[in-house]
Amino acid sequence: MKTSFQLGKIMGIPIKLHITFLLILPFFAWSFAITPPRFGFSDQDLPLRYVLSMAAAVSLFTCVVLHELGHSYIAKKHGTNIRNITLFLFGGVSSLEEIPKNPRTELKMAMAGPGVSFFIGLILTIIYSFFKPAGESFTDYVFLSPINDPYLRLVWMMAILNIVLGIFNLLPAFPMDGGRVLRAWLAERMSYIKATREAAGIGKMFAILMGIFGLFYNFWFMLIAFFIYIGASEEEKSTEINLILEGVKIKDIMSKEVQTVTSGMSVEDLVEYIFRFKHMGYPVVDDGQLKGMVTFTDVQKVPKGERKVVKVSQVMNKKIVSLQEDDDAVNAFRLMTVNNIGRIIVRKGEKISGIVSRTDLLRAVQVLGE
Ligand SMILES: [Zn+2]
Repeated sequence: MKTSFQLGKIMGIPIKLHITFLLILPFFAWSFAITPPRFGFSDQDLPLRYVLSMAAAVSLFTCVVLHELGHSYIAKKHGTNIRNITLFLFGGVSSLEEIPKNPRTELKMAMAGPGVSFFIGLILTIIYSFFKPAGESFTDYVFLSPINDPYLRLVWMMAILNIVLGIFNLLPAFPMDGGRVLRAWLAERMSYIKATREAAGIGKMFAILMGIFGLFYNFWFMLIAFFIYIGASEEEKSTEINLILEGVKIKDIMSKEVQTVTSGMSVEDLVEYIFRFKHMGYPVVDDGQLKGMVTFTDVQKVPKGERKVVKVSQVMNKKIVSLQEDDDAVNAFRLMTVNNIGRIIVRKGEKISGIVSRTDLLRAVQVLGE
């Protein structure tokens, strides 16, 4: 299933919307519509109330994209490719081809996003200050008195939200930018992997504290804490795998005996094959031509009674993901994550020479990581 849609390209980077985002955007608009001033437009008449609320939601997410572009711009300048920027439920994610391992570059890159957010917040604050109600002090600016002009209120809301976005992202925990800043800072004092572990540990502690706070005060904090905890663990794991697999070639860890199946085979026969050879996935080859890949998961989609008549060609994955023997093992890990698959076909030239599975990778990480 397609889970994200491309909006367009900026600086050559595809900007994508994840489907969860299509749920959160109306939710944000709705929240702005029912919230009284200063943080909403519930006092406005229809349809202006909804027009302004939608405008606020769209502007907010535009600012999130600009924040991500801040990261991307610095990354590109230092030669790291950006695959895409995807807007998710909880904001944006720039998907990098690789994490820069030079702490200074990572520091600059991590700071660039919040930098953009603070900059937008500052510009909007200046614009606001030209039009603000006469005699309004700084504390009024932050807390007090509803702004009667709804357009000026929109400017104020965006100013505050951008500043909050900048501050929130500087929290010292993965997957926030502050986690990366912390790691970069630590990495100048210890090995990269140790710095990652320490930073992830601090992030997890932070998440636990935030979760406890949320338990007593606000459910949302618990939810955010949960995401921070997961983010910290994932960052730790993927960095570890990346570092350990560095310099390891695919041919060193792949399984060399490859059992292939044909597309005309019935799913029932395939099940027997799976039992006999104990692999969970097989390349589908017809007359020496690679046609796709079929796995146990594909089999499970076919009801037991129909397995005799359904052919492998009807259930196989036709998208062929393959690598060359001499490619880095890290690439296999990356391709599996990006395509959400468990195994990759390995070739030598055009010929299939092996297969590398997630299990092969994890085993290698275990052995080499000792
Ligand atoms: Zn960021």
